[in-house]
Amino acid sequence: MILFKHASDLQKHLNQIRRNGLRSGFVPTMGALHRGHLSLVEQCRKQNDITVVSLFVNPLQFNNPEDFEKYPVTIDKDILLLEEVEADILFLPAKDEIYPEGVRSAVTYDLGELENILEGAFRPGHFQGVCKVMDRLMNIVQPDRLYLGQKDYQQVMVIRRLLGIIGNKAEIITAPIIREESGLAMSSRNQRLTDEERGRAASIYKALMWIKETQARVSFPVLKNRAIENLKSNGINTEYLELCKADDLSLLNGFNPDKKMVILIAAYLGDVRLIDNLIL
Ligand code: AMP
Repeated sequence: MILFKHASDLQKHLNQIRRNGLRSGFVPTMGALHRGHLSLVEQCRKQNDITVVSLFVNPLQFNNPEDFEKYPVTIDKDILLLEEVEADILFLPAKDEIYPEGVRSAVTYDLGELENILEGAFRPGHFQGVCKVMDRLMNIVQPDRLYLGQKDYQQVMVIRRLLGIIGNKAEIITAPIIREESGLAMSSRNQRLTDEERGRAASIYKALMWIKETQARVSFPVLKNRAIENLKSNGINTEYLELCKADDLSLLNGFNPDKKMVILIAAYLGDVRLIDNLIL
């Protein structure tokens, strides 16, 4: 694996790779890697000649400064894991490489309703921050394919829209959510939970599965209230739990078997914010 810290060096290398007719896939991450991230790298390796991974904890997408300060950083371990799954290139930039003109650029992206619902509503500025870093990274890497996790369901939609705005033709590949045996969706933030808390955090996935399995018999609003109560009894505070149309995330009040649907949840266990989703 070749490690690049400077965008210009990486670009030169990738230009040569393109001249040689090789196709590249790109896996952007914020590090503190787990099996979810590695599954994206593995899929990318199968489908492309060159796999580029980036590791950059983007300050602009943290609406909560404490969340940014506490975000786990495990770079040495990450490098070993990426070597193990045979990533070809790691881009590990400093903040100035990504934001040479500083973080206060005036660019805003028109994300429509996506910015006002779910994650957009509860994390003001988050998706603009995601778009800023992805705009820059896509410009540097210019991959043929971009690998994103379904774990961040709304983010995939935001980035799809971003690629349209900036005219980037990369194909987006969405990979399934990798879970612990307990069902808990893998997340870098899980590292901030104790073993006991991880056990309780699994009730988030159980709540989603319970709603999925009970949908034919009980209405969504009733199931939603019961799930929120159940999570509360496990010390988990739900920020939102919504049923949406899977293709555009418009809110649904009730189950509609004719539509592809997704349930999305964000919840706090202590001060750790966890998200998950399940396609019905
Ligand atoms: P992050 O480092 O949190 O920015 O995540 C980098 C990429 O990994 C994103 O596309 C995430 O959606 C994806 N990802 C995070 N957790 C998982 C998971 N449990 N399963 C699959 N992909 C994931």
